[in-house]
Amino acid sequence: MKTIGMIGGMSWESSIEYYRIVNEEVKKRLGGLHSAKSVMVSVDFAEIEALQHAGRWDEATQAMIAAARQVEAGGADFVIICTNTMHKMAGEVQASINVPLLHIADATATTIKAQGLSKTGLLGTRFTMEENFYRGRLIEKHGLEVLIPNAADRTVIHRVIYEELVLGQILPASKAEYQRIITNLTEQGAEGIILGCTEIGLLVKDADSRVPLFDTTQIHAIAAVEMALA
Ligand code: GLU
Repeated sequence: MKTIGMIGGMSWESSIEYYRIVNEEVKKRLGGLHSAKSVMVSVDFAEIEALQHAGRWDEATQAMIAAARQVEAGGADFVIICTNTMHKMAGEVQASINVPLLHIADATATTIKAQGLSKTGLLGTRFTMEENFYRGRLIEKHGLEVLIPNAADRTVIHRVIYEELVLGQILPASKAEYQRIITNLTEQGAEGIILGCTEIGLLVKDADSRVPLFDTTQIHAIAAVEMALA
């Protein structure tokens, strides 16, 4: 079994899910007392969030590169960044380490295509929904059609992530808002919805949507186990 290297803490509310899922999945596949070999470097999210919202992406990139090198030095055979947003600097991170980076959008696109779907909605931070590093990768590299909410609804999705979910607050009113936005995307033709922020799965569950939900935390963690056991 290979050692999974995780860059976590963005937020720890979702890193804990990664840790749980990789261990449950290894146990399911290998049985007995088996558990995942892993090393995690967990950052202080207050520092990262401040850099993101100040647009200080160069410093955020340096922080991700430092974390990735720490993970590699800790014995990781490959690295996962346990957040969608911080794949904005995935290329720079990969170029700074000597082990592979397993990209969350690639794992997600592979899962969507395996179900025969091609048109999906995307929920995530404003950065993930609006910028090219994530949506562009899904479209250009994987041939998916990707719908995002309108501007007002993107503001709602982004605010709930940073003001509630990363603080562990799961509020019924916000769940209802997410459900409304998911329904809108479905009515526009989305055949599935990417939960493209690693905390959204804490708020929205399969039963809350008429179309399949693609929880990037679940998908990325299981892809990491597959890579570890390959
Ligand atoms: N965990 C979130 C994501 O998947 C947001 C936190 C962050 O900005 O990294 O994008």
